[in-house]
Amino acid sequence: MSAVLIRDVKVIVTAPHGINLVLVKVETSEPNIYGYGCATFTWRYKAVVTAIEEYLKPMVIGRNVSNIEDIWQTMKGSSYWRNGPVLNNAISGIDEALWDIKGRMAGMPVYDLLGGKTREGVAVYRHADGKCIEEVEENIHRFREEGFRYIRVQMNTYGGNFDKSSASMWMPEGHPDGSYFNPRQYMRSTLELFARVRQDFSEELELLHDIHERLALPDALAFAKEMEAFHLFFLEDALPPSQGEYFRVLRENTTTPLAMGELFVNNNEWRALVQNQWIDFVRTHLSFIGGLTPARKMAAFAEIYGVRTAWHGPGDLTPVGMAAQIHLDTAIHNFGIQEFQGFNEAEMEVFRGAPELKDGYAYLNDRPGFGIEVDEAAAAKYPPVEMDFSWLYPRLQDGTAVRP
Ligand code: MG
Repeated sequence: MSAVLIRDVKVIVTAPHGINLVLVKVETSEPNIYGYGCATFTWRYKAVVTAIEEYLKPMVIGRNVSNIEDIWQTMKGSSYWRNGPVLNNAISGIDEALWDIKGRMAGMPVYDLLGGKTREGVAVYRHADGKCIEEVEENIHRFREEGFRYIRVQMNTYGGNFDKSSASMWMPEGHPDGSYFNPRQYMRSTLELFARVRQDFSEELELLHDIHERLALPDALAFAKEMEAFHLFFLEDALPPSQGEYFRVLRENTTTPLAMGELFVNNNEWRALVQNQWIDFVRTHLSFIGGLTPARKMAAFAEIYGVRTAWHGPGDLTPVGMAAQIHLDTAIHNFGIQEFQGFNEAEMEVFRGAPELKDGYAYLNDRPGFGIEVDEAAAAKYPPVEMDFSWLYPRLQDGTAVRP
C-alpha cells in the first residue's frame, strides 16, 4: 500500500452534556481512513481551536500518517516555546487521531498496538459528593449498589463543610462574590466525614480523597497524617505542581498513598517525583501533556519506579480521550485506577462505541483504533454552550483569591 497522507484536519466542538468538548478529526488520502483525537481544554477551548486550525493543520497536511513519533516531535518543537496546556491539547488532538488511524489501518484496537491486554476490564472510581455527611453517604450507597468498589469522597465540591455565618468563616466588609472556603474548616469537616464513612462502610470499600491543592504546606502534611487512620487508596493533589519538592516531606512523614498530577503539563514537573518515589500514582490528563504518545512513555517510566497510573477522567474530556486512556490502561502493567463517570445518552449518541461501565469496571468494544465512530450530525445538535466559570474563583475568608 502506498503511503497514506494527512489530507485535512477538522475541529469539532460539541457539548452533549453541557460541557464544551474539542474533538479533532484527521482525514487522509484514503477516503475511508480517518481518526479522532481529544483536544479538550474546556476553559480555553477557542484558543485550542485556533492553535490547531491556524498552526498545526497547515504544518501536518501532506505528512505520512504512519510516522506518529516524528509528527509529534515536529508539532512539539514547531512553536519554539512549548509545554503549555493550550498547545499540548492541540498536539494531543492530532496525536490521538493518528493512533486511531494506525489501529484502523492495522485492523487492531490501540491496546494491541501498545502490547496487548494485561487485563480484561479497567477498575474505575466514582466521585461521591454532597452538601452534608448524610448526602455524601447516600451517594456512596448508590455507587456501591451499582457495583463500584473505589469511591472518591468529598463534601461541598472541594471546600468541605463551610458555613459563612460561623465564627470561622467571617469575611471583611465589601468582600467580592466568590466561592469562599476556610482551609481549617475544610480539614476538620473532612476528617469528621471520613470517620463516619469508615464507621458506616466496611474496610473493603476503597476510599480516595482530593485536596485539590487547596492547603498550605504544613496543613497538607498534618491532614495527610490524620487521614492515615482511614486507610485511603490514595490522597490526591495534596500540593500544586509548583510545590513538587515538598512531596519529599510528605513521603517521609506519612504512610498515606499519594496521587499527583492532573495539572502537569511538562516532564519537569513529574520526573523527580517519580524517580524519587515521592508519589505513588501519576494522575496526568493525557491531552494536557500532548496525547497518547507522551503518556505511554510516562507510564513506562513510572513502571520502573513502582509508580502506578490514575489518569484524570473528568467530564471535560471527550469519550475519544477517555477511550485513549482506557486503551492505555488495558495495555500497561502499572495501571492503578481510572477515574470515569460514564456517559449520558447524548454523549453515546454522538460517540458511538464509547467505553461503557459495568459493575465497577470500564470496558472497550475491541474494534480497531479507539473503537469509536463519531456521528457528526448528532454532534452538531449540541453546539458550544456558555460555561459557568464561578468554581474557578475561590477565595479564602479574608477575600484572598486562591487557586481552585
Ligand atoms: Mg483532582
